[in-house]
Amino acid sequence: MTAEVIVKPPRRHTPRVHVRWQDADVVMGGGAPVVVQSMTNTPTDDVEATAKQAAELARAGSELVRITVNTPQAARAVSEIRDRLDGQGIHTPLVGDFHYNGHKLLADYPECARALSKYRINPGNVGRGASRDLHFCRMVEIACREDRPVRIGVNWGSLDQELLARMMDENASKGSPLGPEAVLRRALIESALESARRAREVGLGADRIVLSVKVSGVPDLVEIYRELAARCSYCLHLGLTEAGMGVKGIVSSSAALAILLERGIGDTIRVSLTPRPGEPRTEEVLVAQQILQSLELRSFMPEVTSCPGCGRTSSDLFQRLAKSAGEYILERMPAWRASCPGVERMRVAVMGCVVNGPGESAHADVGLSLPGAGEAPVAPVFINGERRTSLKGEDLAGQFNRILEEYVQS
Ligand code: SF4
Repeated sequence: MTAEVIVKPPRRHTPRVHVRWQDADVVMGGGAPVVVQSMTNTPTDDVEATAKQAAELARAGSELVRITVNTPQAARAVSEIRDRLDGQGIHTPLVGDFHYNGHKLLADYPECARALSKYRINPGNVGRGASRDLHFCRMVEIACREDRPVRIGVNWGSLDQELLARMMDENASKGSPLGPEAVLRRALIESALESARRAREVGLGADRIVLSVKVSGVPDLVEIYRELAARCSYCLHLGLTEAGMGVKGIVSSSAALAILLERGIGDTIRVSLTPRPGEPRTEEVLVAQQILQSLELRSFMPEVTSCPGCGRTSSDLFQRLAKSAGEYILERMPAWRASCPGVERMRVAVMGCVVNGPGESAHADVGLSLPGAGEAPVAPVFINGERRTSLKGEDLAGQFNRILEEYVQS
């Protein structure tokens, strides 16, 4: 039998954008793996809290960490935050998020401009009239001077209103062939592309430009990025803005990003979840990683496949076992990563009965099929598709974790 090969659409061709800090060199586009990024939600002038959260995000796997730079105090804090991270051996590049006064902060605080590895400019929030162009160009000039890439990040909550009004008027003068939603989508795209053209005129290279156009509706986002991708070759940052909390935020982000990534669109992603009270900010990093892993674009962590359980399940043992295996993997990953390259691609299966258990387990690197109701009380273990042993007795979770450890170390 010939194995069926799933052919993935090629990644969209873009220049390679490097975001550097010391020995860290995060590459976006040009065929590089899709980059995971996130953002702190602490006041940046609180150096301790921001450095702590940035370190947590970086340790969770965020390859770029964005921080708000909104006041002189925040701008002054940036280099101290950078120093604290460097002091812990964390060289994850920091991205500065600027609105309204970025031209002034970057000009007045050159140490802030240098401690940041990339600037995010929102063209809807840089000023009005003549000052809009002046402020935007000032920020781009500083990016050129410091050799920093820029994300031109358009957001529908802060779209350049002068541009939108102009495009609405143009549409009306033609008898309104487009509805207001379509004009809005076009204005968002136009804002990004016009700003990129202006940045190029000022001297920023195409390999220093990343674009994003964020909205909070999935169909709108897909439509916008498909058009944006067709109209330019810049690196694209994907994200559903204000995705929301919990299941809603996770599912909406996954749906939107998966459609685009599967079409080869997107060079870096951020999942903008509203953190549940008490939940760590790092959840959005794990969700972003899981999206990429589910699409088989990158591997971050061994996957544990488990069935949902049904009336054939004899107890909740298989659920507890799947949970225990997942927790064991999480705990052991730092050591495994260091000593066993490629371990993140390992597949583990924990199944609840004989119906799908042996079949699914045999497709995993290490699989366990627990006995369902009325079945013999033994749990066959499959390694690389072959039945190797059976578990029985007490502490099945401990026995299975030892098998995982032996498999990784072998
Ligand atoms: Fe039910 Fe068995 Fe399928 Fe799990 S593997 S869902 S226990 S039939």
